[in-house]
Amino acid sequence: MTSRLTIFGWHNVESTWCFPVSGSGVAGLEGQLRRLRRMANVVPLEWALDALRAGEPLPPRAVALCWDDGYRDNLELAVPVLEKLELPGTFFLVPGLLSGDDRAWWEIAGWAFARSGRETVEWRGETYPTRGAAGRAAYGRASDRLRVMTAAERAAALEELVDRLAPEGAPEDGRLFLDWEGAREMVRRGFSVGSHTMRHVTLAQETPEDQTEDLRRSREILQRELDVPIRTVAYPFGQADAVSRDTEDAAVKAGYAHGLTTEFGWNGGTTPGTHGRRIMLDPDRGFVATGLSRVTGRLRRLRTAG
Ligand SMILES: [Zn+2]
Repeated sequence: MTSRLTIFGWHNVESTWCFPVSGSGVAGLEGQLRRLRRMANVVPLEWALDALRAGEPLPPRAVALCWDDGYRDNLELAVPVLEKLELPGTFFLVPGLLSGDDRAWWEIAGWAFARSGRETVEWRGETYPTRGAAGRAAYGRASDRLRVMTAAERAAALEELVDRLAPEGAPEDGRLFLDWEGAREMVRRGFSVGSHTMRHVTLAQETPEDQTEDLRRSREILQRELDVPIRTVAYPFGQADAVSRDTEDAAVKAGYAHGLTTEFGWNGGTTPGTHGRRIMLDPDRGFVATGLSRVTGRLRRLRTAG
């Protein structure tokens, strides 16, 4: 028998500067989770990854749920829904964000675009509108450029971008994220935790040594602070320009059993342990809007087939 695991991933529940949500994110999320509970067998992520690796069978239509980045509303909104529906979930956390030592550049850039005092800005040889849908697209283009920089390059480039955008006020991005106490509460309430790197760097843009060091440190600090084994990493951004062969080697060297990308697809017995696939969702969009009719169609067919 062939076992398959579909992993669904989210970030925030309600709107943030980077991830705007239309309507009620928590209602959207609850709808998605109820639907998955009806159609699939929701299983603990690491248990299922271990089983796949060992060639052991999973229940039919096995699905696992996870959240990246450690947004505060994961604890305040997603956890209560998971508890109500009695579903397991895994949260991929970033020590630098939990401690407040690092900031989420994607949120700061999103805030700077949304609050810009200028109609258009020039940044590093390109023109970026700031208003309306064009502004939103421009934010996406700027983020794509920032994403593929080293951490050191990005810090300077972000400062320059924010300076050009001349936003009003302060982003207060820290309030969007959990602190260590919030992370401990998740663990106390029975939820699983994994690593999402030390500072949310784009791993493949860093040297192999720096990648290993980052992954090792984030694992050690999460284990020490939360007193749970950390065996799985979700690579930040998770697409091809963020996860290289070196990244996957670094994950093994740093002691992880499993590594997850954001490559769209399912996981089977032959999926490499350091290159798991996930389907990332927004809480306010149905499965169809995120290209998921394929997935729900498949789940339905499997259910019909028993
Ligand atoms: Zn992330």
